[in-house]
Amino acid sequence: MDGGGSAASITNRRDQGWPLPANEITLGDVTVTRVREYYGPVDMTPETFFPESTPRTWEEHSSWLEPHFVDPGTRIVNSAIQTWLLRSEGRIIVVDTGVGNHKERPYAPVWSRLDTGFLDNLAAAGVRPEDVDVVVNTHLHVDHVGWNTFLDGRSWVPTFPNATYLIAKADFDFWNPANEHRSVLGRGNQNVFEDSVAPVHEAGLTTLWEGSYTIDANLRLDLAPGHTPGSSVLTLASGTDRAVFVGDLLHNPVQIVEPDANSCFCEDPAGARATRRRILGWAADHRALVFPAHLGGAGAAEVARAGNGFAVKDWAPFADISEDAR
Ligand SMILES: [Zn+2]
Repeated sequence: MDGGGSAASITNRRDQGWPLPANEITLGDVTVTRVREYYGPVDMTPETFFPESTPRTWEEHSSWLEPHFVDPGTRIVNSAIQTWLLRSEGRIIVVDTGVGNHKERPYAPVWSRLDTGFLDNLAAAGVRPEDVDVVVNTHLHVDHVGWNTFLDGRSWVPTFPNATYLIAKADFDFWNPANEHRSVLGRGNQNVFEDSVAPVHEAGLTTLWEGSYTIDANLRLDLAPGHTPGSSVLTLASGTDRAVFVGDLLHNPVQIVEPDANSCFCEDPAGARATRRRILGWAADHRALVFPAHLGGAGAAEVARAGNGFAVKDWAPFADISEDAR
């Protein structure tokens, strides 16, 4: 993290025969493990996914945006669905739970009826579902709450029976169908609350928090609204190391160099831009690793201020997720 690395560092290191490291790094007293659910195309072009991004930016940065973050052949955006697994103060914390298996998503066909080996990947990281102490849903979109539950016969039941599920009350209320809020997603989040949020709430496993929430001496949750009303970020501060798990504050590193470009899924466009700039600015000033939910490639990055935006200063030392396919 100290080097003046550039966005091209992944390729450089691979060209030099860089041995692929384990998918785990240590920050202070906390270990961070990357657990993959999916990596690949998500059926959207850059123009559809990020309507405010400029074609020039994609072109200018194509040498490192391709192929990890956009496929140069098809011009379709590549995304990862991954869980960040933290071990802190003897407890296991899971940040975001992906899409899940067997879920009916009539308005999001790319995420409908998946059957992935996510739990096997979790087991490969040394974790059984019953070992998980805390689940963090950075927000309640379809691709962040899926493994909150699994299909047991005809019922959706908590995947992590011994965990406390931390959910921002603002998102819980916004996505609760009983409140009939309108969303930019239209019906894109249909069934999600019912099959992935309500079952853990009804099982008494949720803590609905407001403002901020301290998990332990290393980890704290804060509201970071914009993408959704209750979007949140998890800040890690341990020893001299800093990191911030930002959920969908950004989906693609094009939003680091062009921080005003929202995804088409942001509920409050102005709020999303302001929050993205605020959190990236904090990360740059504190040399904090930024862990979005969906980056392919190395998955996380240190950022620096650059002109009116930011730049990737160095990538986290995770293996390229496209080479981690199971
Ligand atoms: Zn997402």
